[in-house]
Amino acid sequence: MELPFAESFKIKMVEPIFRSTLNERELWLKEARYNLFNLKAEQVYIDLLTDSGTGAMSDRQWAELMLGDESYAGATSYYKLKATIEEIFGFPYFLPTHQGRAAENVLMSTLVKQGDIIPGNSHFDTTKGHIEFRKATAFDCTIQEAFDTSLLHPFKGNIDLEKLEQVLRSYPRERIPMIIVTVTCNTSGGQPVSMQNLREVKAMADKYGIPVCFDSARFAENAYFIKLREPGYAEKSIREIVAEMYSYADMATMSAKKDGIVNMGGFIGFKDEELFRRATTYNIMFEGFITYGGMSGRDMNALAAGLKESTTFEYLETRIKQVEYLGQKLLDFCIPIQQPVGGHAVFVDALKFLPNVPREEYVAQTLALELYLEAGVRGVEIGTLLADRDPVTRQDRYPALETVRLAIPRRVYTNNHMDVVAVALKNIWDRRDEIRRGYRIAWEAPIMRHFTVQLEKLS
Ligand SMILES: *Cc1c(COP(=O)(O)O)cnc(C)c1O
Repeated sequence: MELPFAESFKIKMVEPIFRSTLNERELWLKEARYNLFNLKAEQVYIDLLTDSGTGAMSDRQWAELMLGDESYAGATSYYKLKATIEEIFGFPYFLPTHQGRAAENVLMSTLVKQGDIIPGNSHFDTTKGHIEFRKATAFDCTIQEAFDTSLLHPFKGNIDLEKLEQVLRSYPRERIPMIIVTVTCNTSGGQPVSMQNLREVKAMADKYGIPVCFDSARFAENAYFIKLREPGYAEKSIREIVAEMYSYADMATMSAKKDGIVNMGGFIGFKDEELFRRATTYNIMFEGFITYGGMSGRDMNALAAGLKESTTFEYLETRIKQVEYLGQKLLDFCIPIQQPVGGHAVFVDALKFLPNVPREEYVAQTLALELYLEAGVRGVEIGTLLADRDPVTRQDRYPALETVRLAIPRRVYTNNHMDVVAVALKNIWDRRDEIRRGYRIAWEAPIMRHFTVQLEKLS
């Protein structure tokens, strides 16, 4: 008999979590104005709100914390991280930042001006925010297949090269400061980009003389999918695949809270010394001196160790098999999800799950709240609340997909926890016909409303 698969770690330290009763959860949810961001973390049993900064560090990473050098300038921790980034990504220059959006702020302060166009594959919200804040435009060139949840495609994060070339041809070179490729593509469901696509995007960018930036939060998960799904890469190591991926990038922004497996941190990598020098001024102004830029020495040490761990096949296999495990359980229960399952999360298709709830009553939010009530599981709405109002008409914008995202923290929960999540959703699925009403907005902020919105239950 073939030995079954098991995790590539054992557990050295545990953190207790508590189940609650339905009565308690009903009360807490009412107090939280039906906004899951307002819950206290201790009111949540299994927290799948995000995989950002919520991972468990290894014993090696904790040991590295003790070796941190907190010198203002020239800390050994900076040189340790610098050597690791050069070894893994091939970037000879880098700037530490306090998280991913800070890296975006520094890079875009250096490169983006009013009226610019920045093509890419479904830009992440903070990326888009930094672009639009500068009165520039994020142009989405993702392949059309990404927007059909039940269509199986191995690389739904790919850029449509025809759409890209059309943009590059339509605007002068000076108005396109860069192309941003997000690996894996968070917004389209943690979907990977193929090596061939990265290579072709770089070739096209070179033809038009435009630099390519990788938004790199889940770069290692992307490499894992290339190894498993793309012809010619099965025998290559994750490190070899990452090295080839980044041979097609001129620079990168990184949220280290994802594949860096640290709770806080980020960086920008550069191949060009001149660009690095220009960005340094903004980094010193917004983040900190070149050799710490918003990070403690100990955290740079933990990040260097985390990058080495996240680029091993054993780590990635354990990680992604757990996400697949939850996805498969849901499919076995016939629950509609985005397919194939991405690297960091399972997305439940709320429009197919709750067809009786009117679109104006926030279908995905209704499902996310039901899931919390059922079992104390916290997911997040990726739907109309998040999409927010049209800036001009002030009407709700209805996105193509209305989903509940179940993001899985790295090395935190066991598959028994995944079973609880799956059965909780199955119980809701079985009584889905009775769920006919959703929620209305009682109060909302003028921008980024989903974080603070207050809702009222409709009946
Ligand atoms: C999380 C994330 C960011 C922003 O990083 P923060 O560390 O949250 O500031 C940018 N891009 C992608 C793809 C992300 O997933």
